[in-house]
Amino acid sequence: MLNRGYYQGFGGAFLPEILYATFDELEETFRAAKNDPDFWRNYEQLMSSYSCRPTPLTFAENLTRHFGGARIYIKREDLNHTGAHKANNVMGQGLLVKRMGKNRVIAETGAGQHGVATATMAAKFGFDCTIYMGEVDVERQRPNVFWMERLGAKVVPVLDGTRILKDAINEAFRDWVSNMDTTHYVLGTACGPHPFPEMVSWFQSIIGTEARRQILAVEGKLPARIYACVGGGSNAMGIFSGFFDDPVELVGVEAGGQGLDSGKHASRLCSKDASVGVAQGYKTYFLQNFEGQMKETHSIAAGLDYIGVSPILAYHKETGRVRFEAATDDEVVAATALTIRKEGVIPALESAHAFVQAFKEAPALSPEDIVIVNQSGRGDKDIFTVADAFNDPEWQKFIIKKAKAYNA
Ligand SMILES: *Cc1c(COP(=O)(O)O)cnc(C)c1O
Repeated sequence: MLNRGYYQGFGGAFLPEILYATFDELEETFRAAKNDPDFWRNYEQLMSSYSCRPTPLTFAENLTRHFGGARIYIKREDLNHTGAHKANNVMGQGLLVKRMGKNRVIAETGAGQHGVATATMAAKFGFDCTIYMGEVDVERQRPNVFWMERLGAKVVPVLDGTRILKDAINEAFRDWVSNMDTTHYVLGTACGPHPFPEMVSWFQSIIGTEARRQILAVEGKLPARIYACVGGGSNAMGIFSGFFDDPVELVGVEAGGQGLDSGKHASRLCSKDASVGVAQGYKTYFLQNFEGQMKETHSIAAGLDYIGVSPILAYHKETGRVRFEAATDDEVVAATALTIRKEGVIPALESAHAFVQAFKEAPALSPEDIVIVNQSGRGDKDIFTVADAFNDPEWQKFIIKKAKAYNA
């Protein structure tokens, strides 16, 4: 839409010269794919046979009755293979890797979800796969590390810096520089240097295209509002993409953590703690101090715990096309519990941020109005966090007993 990956000053590609050729190749391949209707048809075919697409749009009848305002619909990205919208992005990039004739993929992962999705794609396509993960995250996310290794990926713990996501990103770029001929870096969200924000958003736009068609088919009209959680911004960009040209209010919900005044959150677009800068190859709002040092972030939802945000969303923040809000950890736990109990669906803690805001606003809307909440993923993965948040005593006994069995 704009000059080489710039969204009114946000975005761009700040790269070491050695990566220029690889980025040119990626951009060319992506452009050709975008202009080739067969590519998208193959992508849709792959996603329907491997990842349950189109995902349903579920009417949340009980929640609608409970709040007594707008009719609440849920877009079910939790039903994707591996349990979240991340499948849309990694499978799409997998098809591009084949087109480029490469045979190895690398990725960074914090919580491990993107690592599992990438390792799954690599197993399916027969690619070699290396996943970089901060050592601290490797220790925190053992179940995901276990699955990545079973899927055939080599998981490399990164010992540099604070040993978390940002250090893993640096290491992945280092690998890429040395292995460009064979290797593609599968970036996990709508961030990073151009063309990643546009490319990832394009693959995720499958969500919004389906949702628009589905809501028109069942209700015969457009929703008043759409809610999506915002980590890097890919599921939000995905569902919003179907509605940018419509009179539909788009609401992105960030991780408010322990409150925007606590310093313990991951809100880049709603808090005073973020400012515009360049890092990790692109320009956007970062949670950084005045010297450009990245701050520590916090969220109960590991997938929202990130210092940057999609430059395309930063741009939509400036233009006002998207409204941004934040939900706190406590609000998220309450909304998760209510959604499970009322609808029998288990939203990921990330997705529950979007539910929080929808629940705040639905009662004030008319019963004629429709809202759609993007349920970006399923919450089964969160059992350790949720059981702790609910202080479930039987769960605690279970964990202790397991640990004892290993000590014996
Ligand atoms: C990774 C993840 C997110 C955050 O990523 P975005 O790029 O902001 O969409 C949100 N929800 C779930 C379930 C995730 O796994």
